[in-house]
Amino acid sequence: MKVLVINCGSSSLKYQLIDSQTEQVLAKGLCERIGIDGRLTHKPTGKDKVEKDLAMPDHTAAVGFVLDALTDPVCGVVASLKEIGAVGHRIVHGGEKFNKSVVITEDVIKDIESVSGLAPLHNPANLIGIRSCQKLMPGVPMVAVFDTAFHQTMPKQAYLYGIPHEFYEKYGIRRYGFHGTSHSYVSQVGAQLVGKPYNEAKIIVAHLGNGSSICAVKNGKSVDTSMGLTPLDGLPMGTRSGSLDPTIISYIAEKEHVSLEEVMTILNKKSGMAGMSGVGSDFRDLDAAASAGNTLADEALEVFSYNVAKFIGAYQVAVGGADAICFTAGVGENDVKVRARICKYLEGIGVKIDYDVNAVTRGTQTKISTDDSICAVWVVPTNEELAIARETVALV
Ligand code: ADP
Repeated sequence: MKVLVINCGSSSLKYQLIDSQTEQVLAKGLCERIGIDGRLTHKPTGKDKVEKDLAMPDHTAAVGFVLDALTDPVCGVVASLKEIGAVGHRIVHGGEKFNKSVVITEDVIKDIESVSGLAPLHNPANLIGIRSCQKLMPGVPMVAVFDTAFHQTMPKQAYLYGIPHEFYEKYGIRRYGFHGTSHSYVSQVGAQLVGKPYNEAKIIVAHLGNGSSICAVKNGKSVDTSMGLTPLDGLPMGTRSGSLDPTIISYIAEKEHVSLEEVMTILNKKSGMAGMSGVGSDFRDLDAAASAGNTLADEALEVFSYNVAKFIGAYQVAVGGADAICFTAGVGENDVKVRARICKYLEGIGVKIDYDVNAVTRGTQTKISTDDSICAVWVVPTNEELAIARETVALV
């Protein structure tokens, strides 16, 4: 079956068409600036990339252009839309309603709407993606795959915050965690790599990208993760602050004479690596700046690395001694310098890597630990789209 995987943001839409038998990507691409003007980048496997400015007043128009590109006689990869057997939608927040992927029905759409308050920027956009696909591909089964679902196995001690219990009961304020599709996929690969059945393996996954989170996976279940009610919690990230003393929020508001909303924008968009360094959020730029002697960039990378190591140390407790630590996503897979910085801190708890092997490992599944390390350390490329396609096929 050919499965269309859709990841719909507020003004963008990423897609991949995957052949579920061969697990090959037939085409992938991106619509940007939806509602502003519109730009399509379409990459059919084995053919030339196409880039076009197209009027995309809304997401339905964008989905229309994606379907046109997929069936185009020149840049297309299928003869007709009939070849697409199912659509898998990435949904950011499933609240406590969804602990696994589901076939999309009207009831499911209502339930996704009902938890949208927890992800006001993401869930409404995800729902528009569903509606647009339903309009243009009537009758094609669709599946919702949630970023939060994998973490619904967390025990209370991991998901409750130290606030009055009524806020959990009234508003659902608790840790939910994100990147679940990636943590699930990578931890399964990790279990295979250490030769253990998934339900007996203890894996710590460090998903380090623009957004970063760490997950403790014990016996095939997420038992703790660093992101919380929203993806702002946990590690400092590209532009997000990560966890901080909550008093900082009112203190900034008071000192800078700005509203609560403005402080939240600062914490979401102007903090993290970009805010600490003044250089930007891209780790390649940060590495280059640090090498060229930029002290703030160097410090930001050290803050990031130390915090990643601290979470890994904590999650050694959560899983009770990991079989493997897996680095994944843009930074985790490729940034050899940041991995080295993180692993330096982990030496104190017996984690040892071969720094020469680490230095040449980019984007490939590779063991970077030495034989006398307390646990294995692997670089494992993530593949969220493939994981969504697999879930979709399993359900339809
Ligand atoms: P997203 O959260 O947007 O999915 P990714 O997982 O794609 O993010 O990660 C993006 C980050 O990965 C960027 O900060 C980028 O600088 C970093 N990255 C990608 N390739 C490299 C590389 N070769 N060296 C260092 N950092 C890299």
